[in-house]
Amino acid sequence: MRRVIIVGATGSIGRQAIDVIARHPDRFSIAGLSAHSDEGGLLAAASRFGGAALCLSSRAPESEAVAFHGPDGLRALVRDTDADTVLNAAAGAAGLSVSFDALASGKDLALANKETIVMAGRLAFEAAGEAGRRILPVDSEHSAIFNMIERFGREAVRGVVITASGGAFRDEPLESLPGKTPSDALSHPTWDMGAKITVDSASMANKGLEVIEAARLFGLSGSEIDVVLHPESRVHSFIRTRDGSLYAQMSRPDMRIPILNALAWPESIDESVADMDPCDVPLRFSRPDPARYPLLGTAYEALASGEGATDAYNAANEAAVAAFMEGAIRFTDIAVVVSRTLERAYPRTLDGLEAVLEVDGDARRVAASIVKEIA
Ligand code: NDP
Ligand code: MG
Repeated sequence: MRRVIIVGATGSIGRQAIDVIARHPDRFSIAGLSAHSDEGGLLAAASRFGGAALCLSSRAPESEAVAFHGPDGLRALVRDTDADTVLNAAAGAAGLSVSFDALASGKDLALANKETIVMAGRLAFEAAGEAGRRILPVDSEHSAIFNMIERFGREAVRGVVITASGGAFRDEPLESLPGKTPSDALSHPTWDMGAKITVDSASMANKGLEVIEAARLFGLSGSEIDVVLHPESRVHSFIRTRDGSLYAQMSRPDMRIPILNALAWPESIDESVADMDPCDVPLRFSRPDPARYPLLGTAYEALASGEGATDAYNAANEAAVAAFMEGAIRFTDIAVVVSRTLERAYPRTLDGLEAVLEVDGDARRVAASIVKEIA
């Protein structure tokens, strides 16, 4: 029985993780749950499982059933609750400390929060090494690559091909993109996800973050990571082995599969929610258009510049997406804010969480001033 703490239990990944655990009560139990401000959602989730420790990370709770609150409460939930695995499904840079607390307290880290790896991947692996614990990716592309690399061996792999759905504006005329609203950006063709990542899908900042994530998770250089557009979201990624073969992992698009795999690793568990009929839909692959998705190229540039630049890429994009959601800038300005923020020089390596947070803060300030100029 694996005891799991879910941070971000009320979000898209968190809710699907609860479903996975409810479907496999013989394998998993819930030791703790956190939400940021959705106390009703937290209590509803908890009512399905007795005895889980609960935390509301933004404020004091109304219910006595919620024992932990605030940022310190979240740290205590993650560190002090008896559990085997922390599923970090918090959105954004706020998930960083959750990951380090999980590893430092001797728990495996099932990681949906890709920001952890983009901001501080090397440090996270150092922390995992020190604790003798594993980082198990939940992001569907990285889950696919992880599962294949673990089976083939890293030395057999020459590179990876990450697939991208293309997001909400894949087939829209280029000249219509500046006029797109937040609600336009939130209608994703294949995946049902949280707001921020859905906007990132439309701009492909999500794929940019995932290229950086793959580089740090699997020790790959930018030239070893390819991105292809694949509108059907059935192939979750490929690995290319040394003999030039491509191997793919396929299923219907359903995050419950990578969540289950991360929670169960190294075991395999029977599950059929995403079984795929190969005759189901024809699969298409093509190159993403750099004019439509400038943030993808910017991610490769950041990767080449080092850890400070990739940290700044994430921070600037979070700030720009927030400004877009508030109606302060246009959709196409997100890419402008990020690339202009990256014109500054950032350190090649970040040797501690303090340095990571300093660059994060600097980049957000630079991005905010560019937003002001544009708005
Ligand atoms: P959602 O916005 O749907 O959910 C976010 C969750 O985190 C909610 O439970 C929210 O609580 C909580 N939360 C928000 N802010 C904070 C904070 N400051 N501190 C702690 N918890 C917080 O996001 P998703 O589930 O879509 O995404 C979560 C992570 O997983 C992201 O890093 C995303 O990139 C990644 N991911 C998501 C995928 C998906 O399919 N959704 C796929 C691959 C990766 P509350 O509800 O109370 O606000
Ligand atoms: Mg993904």
